[in-house]
Amino acid sequence: MGTETRKITKITAEKYDLSLIEPFRISLGTITKANNILVRVFCNDSSTFGMGEGSPTYKITGDNQAGSLSFVKDVAPLLVDRKLDIQAIDEIMNSFVNMTAAKAAINIAIYDLIGKELSKPLFKLLGGYRKEIETDLTIGILTPKEVREKAIDAISKGFRILKIKVEGDVERDLKRIEAISDLGIKIRLDANQGFTPKDAVKFIRKLSSFEIEFIEQPVPFWDIDGLKYVKESGNIPVFADESVHLARDALKLVQEKCVDGINIKLMKCGGLSEAIKIINIAEAAGIPCMIGCMLESRISLTAAAHLALAFKNIKYVDLDSYLFLKDDPVSGGMEVKNGKITVPDSPGLGITGIRCIKSSYEKEEKNI
Ligand code: MG
Repeated sequence: MGTETRKITKITAEKYDLSLIEPFRISLGTITKANNILVRVFCNDSSTFGMGEGSPTYKITGDNQAGSLSFVKDVAPLLVDRKLDIQAIDEIMNSFVNMTAAKAAINIAIYDLIGKELSKPLFKLLGGYRKEIETDLTIGILTPKEVREKAIDAISKGFRILKIKVEGDVERDLKRIEAISDLGIKIRLDANQGFTPKDAVKFIRKLSSFEIEFIEQPVPFWDIDGLKYVKESGNIPVFADESVHLARDALKLVQEKCVDGINIKLMKCGGLSEAIKIINIAEAAGIPCMIGCMLESRISLTAAAHLALAFKNIKYVDLDSYLFLKDDPVSGGMEVKNGKITVPDSPGLGITGIRCIKSSYEKEEKNI
């Protein structure tokens, strides 16, 4: 039976709290846990449901767990009884501003459901460009010695690309890069808005003896002129992350030639549909995309992995956050071996189960 006969019967949302193995520091602050949400979208008489995850954060997406749960609760009645028509559902969700993590959770769940209804893995439904893709591993802001230890450990686990977080201090950041420059790995940098434009250029010019793939978001997200100044004044590619949430942000940046690449995150853009628009805008402008993540488990990471496998213009991948979690509650879904991501050849996301959902929250939030 095709998706045209299927209707949404119920949408549930619950708290999905995840602890990290150790604090993770970036220039925006230190994170010790992720207060995410888990969404299920059910259809018809079927016991089949699609599953999605939202990972809200005030500092980037401007939302939080309570607001995201509330959004799902408010939007669910508008979606129940509708067909699995992704564009119509997106239109309803996008009539509300912001709340992109909650929108992403619903959007991912619906794509998962459509994949299950059509018995196709999501990456094949979306285009099926490749079967595996390499991810980097991210190292937070640490001392140069700790960065080196983490890098050696990552290499021993098969990673060949490392994303190093920098804080926006030219000399201290330079020492972090020097500490790993002899390890024969690809290095990409992420400043999470930490530099002033002038310091970013000063820093980048000191990196000329190192092989750096690119620097992500060197300056504050709102400073588009600063981004362009760093791109034009430095000699390594500049990627936007926090400056691009939606497709319209991507369009503005490529029209004004501010960046050499765009880091897409499902939590910033509200799901796979908007991510696809960004990929296409970037491709038309001749610039590559990266796909990254917030502190997500392998539910939404798997959705992002399917997208990366489906689209040629995703050339860089940073889908590593589940490796920072104390416990991995997900079975099935994407896997990383020797730095290479694969997804199961089974319908939808290919996730088979989730452990550790708190039952008290389920009672409170499930029947909405
Ligand atoms: Mg980033």
